[in-house]
Amino acid sequence: MSEPLSPALQSEPNRFLQGMVRGLKRRCPNCGEGALYAGYLKIEPTCLVCGHDNSQYRADDAGPYFTILIVGHIAVGPLLFFPFIWKAPVWWVVGTTLPFLAVLTLLLLPRVKGAVIGVQWAQAVRKSAVVDLSAGGAPPPA
Ligand SMILES: [Zn+2]
Repeated sequence: MSEPLSPALQSEPNRFLQGMVRGLKRRCPNCGEGALYAGYLKIEPTCLVCGHDNSQYRADDAGPYFTILIVGHIAVGPLLFFPFIWKAPVWWVVGTTLPFLAVLTLLLLPRVKGAVIGVQWAQAVRKSAVVDLSAGGAPPPA
């Protein structure tokens, strides 16, 4: 295992892609070795390999949003380009596409969420940087 470079030693595009690829592989964005998840979508709070605090990143709805965006484009493309799909019985189209889309969604969701967390790692976006202004909190000084 190699020691990860400090953020200052990495160029931003390299760090961005590195975090994203590590997240897509469902690995810790900091070391790329430890598992990012303790379950299907539950984040391992502390990396078991490097000890990085992965609980500080909040993917929230970004993972499902981008997953829907990707799966939606995969579903709509063939519907637009292959006329036999329009002419097929509805029960056949629904029966064949829904299981495919469900499996694809379940496969992509943790990877896309991991990529979002990897990008947050690369951009140093952390939970503590978010201030709840509705509770009367003030934004942190710039
Ligand atoms: Zn790690």
